[in-house]
Amino acid sequence: MAQLSVTDLSKTYPNGFTAVHPCSFEIEPGEFVVLVGPSGCGKSTLLRMIAGLEEITTGEMRIGDRVVNDVDPAHRDIAMVFQNYALYPHMTVRKNIAYGLRNRKVPAGEIAQRVTQAAEMLNLTDYLDRRPSQLSGGQRQRVAMGRAIVRDPALFLFDEPLSNLDAKLRNQMRIEIRALQRRLGVTSVYVTHDQVEAMTMADRIFVLNDGRIEQIGTPSEIYHRPASTFVASFMGAPPMNLLSGRGTGNGAVALDGGQAVPVPLDTESNRPVLLGLRPEDMALDGAGPIAFDIEIVEELGAHRLLHGRLSEQPFTVSVSKDTEVGTGPARLSARPGAVNLFCAEKGHRL
Ligand code: ATP
Repeated sequence: MAQLSVTDLSKTYPNGFTAVHPCSFEIEPGEFVVLVGPSGCGKSTLLRMIAGLEEITTGEMRIGDRVVNDVDPAHRDIAMVFQNYALYPHMTVRKNIAYGLRNRKVPAGEIAQRVTQAAEMLNLTDYLDRRPSQLSGGQRQRVAMGRAIVRDPALFLFDEPLSNLDAKLRNQMRIEIRALQRRLGVTSVYVTHDQVEAMTMADRIFVLNDGRIEQIGTPSEIYHRPASTFVASFMGAPPMNLLSGRGTGNGAVALDGGQAVPVPLDTESNRPVLLGLRPEDMALDGAGPIAFDIEIVEELGAHRLLHGRLSEQPFTVSVSKDTEVGTGPARLSARPGAVNLFCAEKGHRL
């Protein structure tokens, strides 16, 4: 049985704006799902509906075998970790972690035991008597995690929990959160606008755009077989190159502005398409079929980005630091399986 199951769920705010269009999905026990998308796509609204903090306009939601549409947040058996940590400044770390349990009238001995255990897991044992103001950002984040863990909930909900941390700490915390979640086996839904966080943490990613779930898939599926130009451009930095052209009907795309690029797919003759090629799927190859004009070489240490024009259209190639290359004309080949084709008009994958 799915841990979270949602049917025809939607949200229209009282002003008539639909932030989440009807959607259905299931999340399996122990799964780590990341909701990702640009600002305003509806990911927080969806998470808040799961939490019970936002009323549902249509649809049904189940946690385990229980319909929770009308169950208030405190009784949904969920624990939420927020961006701003939501810690009580006047309470010690120990009291902050214990807070939810004390509210639920859990016996004192059991509270002490659970808090000790959580503090050990999170490396907070030495900080239990401090107040939040005496902690670093990463430690505060861990206290917020501790408060969620001690509840032993059916579902963890994370709302951009790392966005207030610096880049280095964010990398470290995302590994810690994922390791902890695996250890505890708690089903988790995690909201972020950071595609790297989504790629590295998720079992499955839900990509949202304009209140619709545009694609659901594993990080590899989302990255290598994006369902639309939106997903192709949103996931990956630098993003997938999208070249406009027309099908030739004989295994090639005739690019606007010049050359024909062979594709291992049937392309309807004269149909306007977008040819998607990831920068790192291209190789400099003297005998390659594609002409590329390199205008700028950008050094990034581990690799180099070559920015230029392919049939007059902007194009970027990523090569390893060992590849000696300068500006000027070059030849490229695409790695097998690297070609993505999209409908130019509607953006969906062909
Ligand atoms: P962000 O990453 O910026 O938080 P988000 O993807 O989480 O964005 P939501 O907060 O879910 O987006 O908002 C989705 C859309 O719903 C936005 O266009 C927002 O302006 C709108 N919205 C949010 N709350 C309300 C409200 N109470 N009334 C009307 N519209 C709202």
